[in-house]
Amino acid sequence: MRRLLTAVVLSTLLLSLSCSYMGYALRQQGYDGLKRPWIRVRVLQGDVDVTISAKGSFMVRTWDTNDEKSAYYSATPVVVKAASGWLNLLDQKGNLLEQRLRKVTIIAGPQKKLRLNDRMFHGIFEFHPLKSDSFYSVNVLNIEDYLRGVLQPEIGNRTEDEFEAVKAQAVAARTYAFITTDKYPDREYDLINDIGDQVYTGIAGEQDITNRAAKATRGEVLMYENDLIDAYYHSTCGGRTDNIEEVWDKGARPYLVGVADSDFCRWSKFFDWNELYSTSEFLDHIRNYIRTANGDIGKIGERLIEATTSDRTSGGRIKAIQLTTDRGSVVLHKDQIRWALGRHDKPGIMPSTNFVINLDRDDNGVVQQVHVIGYGYGHGVGMCQCGAIGMARVGYTYQQILTHYYTGARIRKLY
Ligand SMILES: [Zn+2]
Repeated sequence: MRRLLTAVVLSTLLLSLSCSYMGYALRQQGYDGLKRPWIRVRVLQGDVDVTISAKGSFMVRTWDTNDEKSAYYSATPVVVKAASGWLNLLDQKGNLLEQRLRKVTIIAGPQKKLRLNDRMFHGIFEFHPLKSDSFYSVNVLNIEDYLRGVLQPEIGNRTEDEFEAVKAQAVAARTYAFITTDKYPDREYDLINDIGDQVYTGIAGEQDITNRAAKATRGEVLMYENDLIDAYYHSTCGGRTDNIEEVWDKGARPYLVGVADSDFCRWSKFFDWNELYSTSEFLDHIRNYIRTANGDIGKIGERLIEATTSDRTSGGRIKAIQLTTDRGSVVLHKDQIRWALGRHDKPGIMPSTNFVINLDRDDNGVVQQVHVIGYGYGHGVGMCQCGAIGMARVGYTYQQILTHYYTGARIRKLY
């Protein structure tokens, strides 16, 4: 699609940027009354029922196997409930209103908000049944409203001297959102509301400073030549960001190349860190990871003999680690290392792959403990959020912050 976009841009040079962006252009239809450009965010997945209410009345539209079944206004809450691969609609007392539905859409009046259980949202909600006797819901809303619910969960509580970093985050998150809108044409949603894409909590996530940052950068995205960029970002690079192709099995991008950053993110509590595992805990982590990935755990014995790290990326991240036990050797690669090693005594993935590993041996040479000393938190590609905050504190603008992390990218205002 992005190659197609380039072709369109080249053949219609006189079109303004906002018209030539395919995802944006395609989104000129549908969802009457919803301010464009909009985005579809999967918010619930696997729920069995949810109560929807609003201040005043809201519109309910339902679809059965063939077509739209009904459309009406409700002044009282309704309950969407999963029912053996379909959806049922109930009133708040549990009386059945409609059954065997394949889709339910709830639309609040203009400027109004919807409440799902105890959470408030802008925009429209769609509900789709799953075969597993549950459903997923999709919040369709204006991209600027979406962004206001993303910024605080993604960059945390920030102060006025860090405002430029919040603006940089707004432009990066908006760009990320836009690029998803033409990525999955066959799906009912563009992105999900957790770390798989960007964390989005609806209106609960909004703050004054983040709302101001969204407004100050309204419509602004990052582009390289005529394409939106893949605006990846992460918590703390730990000294240097990395070339994307060295971290993931993805192609190189001219704007996702490593940059030096230790002056800016050194303040982060994850600039450096330690993990200390007993040998058995360490081997358990590796065994569990390989088992979950349906791999062969036969080579993970009870004793760790050696841990050898191979080449490093230009930013210092390990590309592969070979673990030798009394039963054989396994090799883990790139970002998979973080999932396999995990953390000592708590759930979650290892903060980064930028580390050195030391095996503490007893007098007989038997490995008793595994000591990992590392730097940074996250994949290390694109903007370092703690570095962006550090730059803002010493007076850099959001434009300077973004071009520091996204080499050669430009900020363009789409609307
Ligand atoms: Zn950094």
